[in-house]
Amino acid sequence: MAAKGAALDRAVAGLLQAAGVNGVPVDVEAVARHLNAQVHHQPLEDDVSGVLAIKGTAKHIIVNSLHHANRKRFTIAHEIGHLWLHHDDRDRLFIDKQMTIYQRVGSAAGYTAPNSTTTPEEEREANRFASALLMPVEHLRRITKELDLFDEVDLSRIAALFEVSEQAMSIRLQQLNLLSPT
Ligand SMILES: [Zn+2]
Repeated sequence: MAAKGAALDRAVAGLLQAAGVNGVPVDVEAVARHLNAQVHHQPLEDDVSGVLAIKGTAKHIIVNSLHHANRKRFTIAHEIGHLWLHHDDRDRLFIDKQMTIYQRVGSAAGYTAPNSTTTPEEEREANRFASALLMPVEHLRRITKELDLFDEVDLSRIAALFEVSEQAMSIRLQQLNLLSPT
């Protein structure tokens, strides 16, 4: 599944509904639990945002506990994206560094098999998914009606409401054409 735009938004809305997650800020950990993934907060090296480890039926998301709360939420959402979009029946390990990812296809012996890196397209898909999950379009449309988005104070307020960075919110609003001049 590599939906984008409105199709991705519809798929994400279905996922949120199935997970019983309503309102904002979106409870990303509840979405992970719905997909049978356990979320762990652990100190990792600074350049590592998060890890998704899939081995058999065990699915673990490890997020760098040293990072800012908003970034941790984005990382968890990104890893859910890999789980939802890119996981087939194989054991896989995704390690998300700042801009790059290392992904290994493992055997029962563990994750020491030779690497095959995920594609830049998979990274873009995981980021698009994270953006759609953390900032569901219906909530954004409703809330932005009441705000002046060219006002920096309001941009900061709406980002705080969704518990995302102002940068992530700004990108999302542009994608949805909610920031285009009228
Ligand atoms: Zn990734």
